[in-house]
Amino acid sequence: MIARMSDQKNSTQHPATIAAQGLGWIDEETKAVSPPVHLSSTYIRDPDNQYRSGREYIRADNPSFDQPEAVLTALEKGADAMLFSSGMAAATACFLALQPGDHVVVPEVMYWGLRSWALGFAREWGLDVEAIDMDDLAAVKRAMKPGKTKLVWVETPGNPMWNITDLASVAEIAHDAGARLAADSTVSTPVLTRPIEYGADIVMHSATKYLNGHSDIVMGALITGAEDDYWGRLKTTRIKLGSVPGSFEAWLLLRGMRTLFPRVKAACANALALAEHFGRHPRVADVLYPGLKNHPSHGIAARQMSGGFGGMLSIRLKGGASAATATAARVKIWKRATSLGGTESLIEHRSSVEGVGSPCPPDLLRLSAGIEDASDLIADLEQALDGNA
Ligand code: PLP
Repeated sequence: MIARMSDQKNSTQHPATIAAQGLGWIDEETKAVSPPVHLSSTYIRDPDNQYRSGREYIRADNPSFDQPEAVLTALEKGADAMLFSSGMAAATACFLALQPGDHVVVPEVMYWGLRSWALGFAREWGLDVEAIDMDDLAAVKRAMKPGKTKLVWVETPGNPMWNITDLASVAEIAHDAGARLAADSTVSTPVLTRPIEYGADIVMHSATKYLNGHSDIVMGALITGAEDDYWGRLKTTRIKLGSVPGSFEAWLLLRGMRTLFPRVKAACANALALAEHFGRHPRVADVLYPGLKNHPSHGIAARQMSGGFGGMLSIRLKGGASAATATAARVKIWKRATSLGGTESLIEHRSSVEGVGSPCPPDLLRLSAGIEDASDLIADLEQALDGNA
């Protein structure tokens, strides 16, 4: 039995303390500071056929989710949280919990996997999904169909240009039209931005990334600002689709979140060092990082993000697509791989990964800054760029 702090939602501890101690929960039986992994898929009924323990079946409910979900609820200052089997499972649940015919607004530029699902599968399934420029608040207002628009989806910072959505303004526009705002906050993490504080109704994370932080699980999470009807539908969606992670993965997430704050801070410092250095490089046409004053979203980022501007940046090369792929081919310390948010730095040519219809510029390399020594990362990218001479 894990000791629950009775009111973690109102915890007065600093977020870094909550993360480092997993809310300070201990196993009452063994006094362990790290919880056991519960593997049972089913639970004993009482003799009168009731489930007074509150546990019934693993697809509905798993004791190994309690602590990581409570930590996420506390870090995002929400009312409740749910783990999902992947970031995509968490994100698509937000769409699948709507009704066919509902209008949904998404950004034109966002994580490619969800964009192609929303503009493909979700439309075929009956949702009226519209992609707009989420940086243009007038366009957001114009897109609202009061009574019909049920969800506005944002991603901030947004893949792969790292534009920052003005959450408070978009939340106000969405709410005025009777819609909910859901924010993919994977890249921000609760260390840098807590969207519920700015009016978002739902926060989504690919926990595969920074929350876990070690590139060794796939998982998603949703956090709600209120336990309302929509949250109830999301719970049903998770149970009925069975999009739950395994117990060991939930345990790994909890372990990963203990170091969330130092990891995110180290990644932010490395990303800033890389952005400043390569902003002056003769073979680099542009560096996209919201921490740089010349980034179009720097003003909003400075207001909405605290403690750093994230670990993600992109560079655009003067030699176009061929220079970009050749640079990625020459790195030795950087890892040529998809994903982000791990301790190791990753580099990726996104437009060839995304393929036909991708809005990603072909000269762009996406960089996920890890927590290595920044000088190694700079030297490795320098030698890779020099090969373009
Ligand atoms: N959101 C963002 C911003 C992502 O980068 C990703 C994955 O790359 C996802 C969502 C999907 O998450 P997952 O791969 O855990 O399904």
